[in-house]
Amino acid sequence: MAGSSYDALVIGAGHNGLACAAILAKAGQKTLILEANETAGGLAGTREFTAGFSAPMAHSAAALPKTMIDELKLSSYGLEVGPALETVGLSEDGQHVHVIGDTVTGATDADAAAYPEYRAKLQRYAKVLKPIWEATLPRIGASSLKEALIYAQGALKMRMLGKEDMSEFLRILTLPMRDLVDEVFEDPKLQAVLSWDGLIGSKMAPRSPNNAVLPMLLRLGGVHGGDHMVPKGGMGAITKALLAAAQKQGVEVRFGAPIKKVIVEGSEAGQKATGVELVNGEIISAPKVISSADPKTTFFDLVGAPAFDVQFASRIKRLRAQGYVARFNAALSGLPDVPGLDGLSGRYIIAPSFDAIEFAFDDAKYGDASQHPVMEVTFPSVHDASLAPEGKHVLSAHVMYAPHDERSDWSHDARIRFTKAIGDALERHMPGIGSLIIQAELLTPKDIAADYHVAGGHWHHGEMALDQMLMMRPTYHAAQYSTPLQGLYLCGAGTHPGGGITGLPGRNAARQILR
Ligand SMILES: Cc1cc2nc3c(=O)[nH]c(=O)nc-3n(C[C@H](O)[C@H](O)[C@H](O)COP(=O)(O)OP(=O)(O)OC[C@H]3O[C@@H](n4cnc5c(N)ncnc54)[C@H](O)[C@@H]3O)c2cc1C
Repeated sequence: MAGSSYDALVIGAGHNGLACAAILAKAGQKTLILEANETAGGLAGTREFTAGFSAPMAHSAAALPKTMIDELKLSSYGLEVGPALETVGLSEDGQHVHVIGDTVTGATDADAAAYPEYRAKLQRYAKVLKPIWEATLPRIGASSLKEALIYAQGALKMRMLGKEDMSEFLRILTLPMRDLVDEVFEDPKLQAVLSWDGLIGSKMAPRSPNNAVLPMLLRLGGVHGGDHMVPKGGMGAITKALLAAAQKQGVEVRFGAPIKKVIVEGSEAGQKATGVELVNGEIISAPKVISSADPKTTFFDLVGAPAFDVQFASRIKRLRAQGYVARFNAALSGLPDVPGLDGLSGRYIIAPSFDAIEFAFDDAKYGDASQHPVMEVTFPSVHDASLAPEGKHVLSAHVMYAPHDERSDWSHDARIRFTKAIGDALERHMPGIGSLIIQAELLTPKDIAADYHVAGGHWHHGEMALDQMLMMRPTYHAAQYSTPLQGLYLCGAGTHPGGGITGLPGRNAARQILR
């Protein structure tokens, strides 16, 4: 376009925006990223929540695939894959359940014996889906040979499972987590732990049908086949490496540059995005505008509904994207001494059973924060000493459930009640932790929405449910990274394959745009 000094503008320096920009720039596209916040990473970034204490937003990377690490040569930018993390189902009596690799301890002998086969089965199914996650899925009704081949490849991989396994794969795909896990395991704590990765980040509980297994299989595509991982030096290393990789390719990044709107030009017959206007009034033009902001923010706040036909706008409006997970950060004067635990480098699940999760969800379904929340706790400063002053530590908890639309709109009282419920649960499982807390922060989905510019404060920019996944993410006519508005593309977690730290939406979008 005349007068434009960039080929592509990327909205947002979250990890998908960075991945997208790096690949575009590598292919010779002059690319500028505009980020509203002062730092990179977005929901995968690091947050100073009180003076001297910071926490990474994401606890761990289960789903980061080797494909991303290799394609962007992230190892040469300092990313070193860490060992598999242990996941521990905490018990008040110190009799915890431990899960790592093929090994389960602390549950029944039958559970321990069944786990390797259960895990191997899920890993086989995750492998079937790998080419699907890493491709642009053709539009429904697309008929070119190349497009058909993408599905054929998936079908072939499925066929290669053999008849029995293929039937089993199809059977479990839509099971609620409770049914999937309950068929094999009997220990309530282990059941809760194994259902956790299907539920976290979503508006789902163990009995919720249809939607948990597919996102869980995506999470099994990471470097440790489903085990979680924190890179050497902490989670911040992922954003650092992506930013360095992008800048090395020549990507320019401007922080503190919130975009007010996408500029749309042309007649009604042929409108197109031609650039952006920043909140400070500055206009930057480019023939391609690629948004890593969530679909609702992109289409409604940055472009405006009138640019789209009514049906499309209505589908975007109806996307389910209300966050249900809160974040609790605490600055600690030291690490707690948790009975039955040796070291605190793992993930600690406080959810004694399926029912505990389900009852916590029941409150949230009707607009209340859970009276007895369930949570995943980590101590990020154990992996990255720079997050706290010497000798001090940071606790971080992902707490379910905290509806974005809490009935009092997250009044002061509601916050106090919820914070107390979190503190009580922590104290029961980590006696004495309360006396170590110097300062704490509760981030409800409403706070996440405000601080990270994501509508609804949803972890994944939208529910990862069957009707909002694959060739329908975020919705048809915008599921191949292009949108109904010429020149406007999507590259964030709201696109295929979805949220979590994978970099795949950004990478797939860049590859599609370059075609
Ligand atoms: C509390 C929390 C914990 C999580 N924990 C985990 C975890 O342990 N493991 C895991 O795999 N996943 C986790 N997730 C999910 C994961 O972090 C996200 O799905 C993923 O980081 C989304 O990346 P993204 O780049 O697509 O979007 P984002 O990270 O949301 O990036 C979008 C960027 O666009 C910017 N932006 C938006 N609007 C504008 C504008 N108008 N102008 C300029 N810039 C704009 C935003 O500021 C943001 O930086 C967690 C999410 C949350 C909220």
